[in-house]
Amino acid sequence: MKTIIEPFRIKMTEPIKLITQEERSAALERAHHNVFLLDAEDCCIDLLTDSGTGAMSTDQWAAMMLGDESYAGSKSWKKFESTIKSITGIAHVFPTHQGRAAENILAQTRLKPGDVVPNNSHFDTTRANIEFVGARAVDLLSDAGLDTTLEAPFKGNMDLEKLRNCIAEHGADRIPFGMITVTNNTGGGQPVSMANIKAVKSVLSEHGIPLVIDACRFAENAYFVRELEPGYQDRDLFSIAQEMFSYADAATMSCKKDGLANIGGFFICNDDRWAEEFKNLLILREGFPTYGGLAGRDLEIIAVGLMEALDYDYQVYRHATVTYLGDRLQQLGIPHVRPVGGHAVFLDAKAFLPHIPQSEYPGIGLVNAIYLEGGVRAVELGSVMFGKIDGDGTETPAPLELVRLAFPRRVYTQSHFDYLIEVLRSVWENRDKITGHKITYQPRFLRHFTCRFKPV
Ligand SMILES: *Cc1c(COP(=O)(O)O)cnc(C)c1O
Repeated sequence: MKTIIEPFRIKMTEPIKLITQEERSAALERAHHNVFLLDAEDCCIDLLTDSGTGAMSTDQWAAMMLGDESYAGSKSWKKFESTIKSITGIAHVFPTHQGRAAENILAQTRLKPGDVVPNNSHFDTTRANIEFVGARAVDLLSDAGLDTTLEAPFKGNMDLEKLRNCIAEHGADRIPFGMITVTNNTGGGQPVSMANIKAVKSVLSEHGIPLVIDACRFAENAYFVRELEPGYQDRDLFSIAQEMFSYADAATMSCKKDGLANIGGFFICNDDRWAEEFKNLLILREGFPTYGGLAGRDLEIIAVGLMEALDYDYQVYRHATVTYLGDRLQQLGIPHVRPVGGHAVFLDAKAFLPHIPQSEYPGIGLVNAIYLEGGVRAVELGSVMFGKIDGDGTETPAPLELVRLAFPRRVYTQSHFDYLIEVLRSVWENRDKITGHKITYQPRFLRHFTCRFKPV
């Protein structure tokens, strides 16, 4: 088999600034040891997130020029709406400026204090929006998903027994909707099988509970279904996506992921009352329902991007880049979540740095060491992001301490990844010198974005 090449060529370049180790050390100091507070230009390879960081195609740049900026009922809105309806088959479509705006309005309109929302694993903004209205976000990931070394497909699946128990414990009338996140970002970017989506839908249906799909990486999930799930090998990704959405009553989406756009999101639903109430709050918070906080040009870009994400050759290439890094880490013995996810490689910071207790955030030590070594920005997905803090300030650590190396779409080439592998190797060889961290400042919600650290 020949090398899987990038299925595109480069037409425009963006320079990367290369700075010295001393300069990186000073930059990290200024950023209070929180890489979210670094200047982006001080990160020569930025793997903080795959969200909104992708490169647009020629078709997307061309579509941008067709943007119809009419306030209401624009041509661009029509394209946006019809593309989403063709993929999802869902009746009501509402643009939002990004995924969390859809989550926010969904939570405000559908949840009240004391309600419970089950999910395979809630993403941080989803959890925050649910908790902000006084409801509880419950994770019901399968046990396989909690084992970071088990080589198994579909480790993003929800545990159906846990779901049944959750419904029995809280009662269906306390659960206005259930969610399933595809792929499971928080759980290591692992895919969810069609069979699991179908089964979750059927358990929820027995109790009259609607299913909301967090669809941010629906196209990557469709690719995994085709590659790994019996019966899907001859299906195109478009029809697999259609089937996934056929089990959903509603969905939230960040177009900064599989919309291949730099901004945007949407909410879709079948229920007329949900739509009516969503629309009223959308007008208040985001904008008129045919633009929902986006420019006409953004709607055009997303309409093209959603279809490009479903291109099989694109997904083959994307998955090959993630697997390439995973295989090299495997050879070096660097602990990471197996198998590799769809959009990222997740290092296991607990296994990488066994000498740092969870109360001193091993993920932060690792992220900072990677930056100092090579100017590569990664992100902690561990106790800083997902730890639970009680009223009295006691902290329960997250089950996993991961460091995510997220892959922006269509941005970096193989030599960037070869450099990254050299950086990781050097950090691994010097891991004994990495220290823990203490938090010196933190806000109440989404603390990982702005909190400050001090090395211990
Ligand atoms: C990114 C993301 C969101 C939130 O979307 P934003 O556009 O960043 O607001 C929600 N859920 C998942 C799984 C995500 O990856």
